[in-house]
Amino acid sequence: MSTALWYALAAAAGNVVGGLCAVRGIQLGLKLIEGLLAFGAGFMLSVAIVEVLPESFAKGGAEASAFVLLGYLLVHLTQHTATQHFHFGEETHAVTRVAGMTALIGLLLHTFFDGVAIASGFAVSGQLGVLLFLAVLLHKLPEGVTICSLQIKAGRSAGQALGSAAILGAATILGVLLTNAVAPLATHGLALAGGVTIYVAASNLVPEFQAKRGWALPLAFFLGAAGFFGARALLAGLGASV
Ligand SMILES: [Zn+2]
Ligand SMILES: [Zn+2]
Repeated sequence: MSTALWYALAAAAGNVVGGLCAVRGIQLGLKLIEGLLAFGAGFMLSVAIVEVLPESFAKGGAEASAFVLLGYLLVHLTQHTATQHFHFGEETHAVTRVAGMTALIGLLLHTFFDGVAIASGFAVSGQLGVLLFLAVLLHKLPEGVTICSLQIKAGRSAGQALGSAAILGAATILGVLLTNAVAPLATHGLALAGGVTIYVAASNLVPEFQAKRGWALPLAFFLGAAGFFGARALLAGLGASV
């Protein structure tokens, strides 16, 4: 089994763990995951802009920029244009059953590209692969909370809610498998994943906390960006010493 696949399995498990916190109503877990959402946003945005964009242009030339834009637009299309109700974070008000289902379908494209990001990263270098895995893992818990709380509020059972989280995880694993098997994805996957990652960080996650008062979540966001540079330096050090 490829390295990327193992990492994708770990990331997929994050969906289910986050979902369990929502289904069981574990308050401390949900509070921590809210901080993780802000930290993950800073980390993802940094990986996408500092690492993924230059690597995409090095690989695909100027043409890559169109694929970055396409990735960004595709998430908006599937998560908001074709969806009745969707936002990140714990769902706190009642939603229709249809909303629960369209949100799940909408999230599938994004979680598929979580896998494309991991596989495309490892195709460039082990360092980029691990950085993209961390960017994905950090928002997998909030992703699980989002879909499970939404399904519960839409009137579905705990088992069905956790099933939704597992489906999201499976889409990530499929993303890894298809990137390694389908030529266009192997070529343009990194640029597409870059656009998806920028959308998820800046247009899904940041709006969840930018209107909230207090310093904790903004601090977590900036720490996420700093955390990226720390992780990159650590990985470069490890790579040099091996
Ligand atoms: Zn809502
Ligand atoms: Zn994701």
